[in-house]
Amino acid sequence: MRRKLAAGNWKMNGNAASLSELHTLHSLMPQNPPQVVICPPAPLLFRATEAARGTGIQIGAQDCHMQHNGAFTGDISSELIADTGATFVIVGHSERREAHEERDRDVRKKAQSAWESGLTAIICIGETLDDHEANNTLDIIAGQLAGSLPDGVSANNTVVAYEPIWAIGTGKVPTLSQIIEVHDFIRSKLTARYGLEVADMIPLLYGGSVKPDNATTIFKADNVDGALVGGASLKAEDFAPIIAALANS
Ligand code: PEP
Repeated sequence: MRRKLAAGNWKMNGNAASLSELHTLHSLMPQNPPQVVICPPAPLLFRATEAARGTGIQIGAQDCHMQHNGAFTGDISSELIADTGATFVIVGHSERREAHEERDRDVRKKAQSAWESGLTAIICIGETLDDHEANNTLDIIAGQLAGSLPDGVSANNTVVAYEPIWAIGTGKVPTLSQIIEVHDFIRSKLTARYGLEVADMIPLLYGGSVKPDNATTIFKADNVDGALVGGASLKAEDFAPIIAALANS
């Protein structure tokens, strides 16, 4: 059985006071919760791991540098992230790819660095609206998978998040059949590269405007093992029903 995972990406939102959401979320968890990860802004990581103690919620960062230390002013290494007690890191989010011009090979090196520090990398891929409208989605996804995932992927060190860029923060969501098509395709590509035994166990997340009212539908897709959630992860009252929908899927 693949593990189910709900990851919340707070982006550049929230502050120390927002960490009380972790306790509220814990109090709203279903009986058999999936794995839950909250990725707050980096300055909150230490306090977040403390706030999450005893709740079962894991903490992740939103990015890491590909080097472990050195003259990289303002950057944060995977080692430092692990030192906070965090266990996950998102790499290759489309906002990093777009605003910081990160390429597939940068994402691959960041994932490798995350592994070396004992972190699980949530590797994001996804097509632009132009690519979607030109029916290029599967080609783009194939290229990003080939370029962004290192050799040595396993279910312990990697989660793949498919996030169509046009669905992030827009309220637009692909149809269930589009979600099924892309996730089935990702699984088949992982199988071809890493073998069935490994590929079958890697959690695949869907991300892009997941909300309490569409989560149940999205989790109907066999190869969707969870969600990467932005806006709806900020408030426990919004994230909890998504987690419950995943637990019941
Ligand atoms: C995201 O930032 O990864 C995301 C999916 O955001 P939202 O849920 O707000 O679309």
